[in-house]
Amino acid sequence: MKKVKIPTGEPAGRITCQACGNSTDFVEVAENVLVTTHYVQNADGSFTPQENETEIHGEVRLLCGKCGTDLTPFHGHFLEMIF
Ligand SMILES: [Zn+2]
Repeated sequence: MKKVKIPTGEPAGRITCQACGNSTDFVEVAENVLVTTHYVQNADGSFTPQENETEIHGEVRLLCGKCGTDLTPFHGHFLEMIF
């Protein structure tokens, strides 16, 4: 379990990219994602998706959306702040 880094920006708790100053655009990247989707074939031969499961086997990283700097230490904080 990685330690969650809490940003100390102004106002407190806002993540700011230290490389370019961006505090609005962020990208989450998941590696080795397995997506399984269940389909039902209808009488007319068409398919309807029923449910899908996403399994993440690799690392999940948080990147600056402007310059791509790795902000993964803030990822735990990021997850808590998604509403
Ligand atoms: Zn940046």
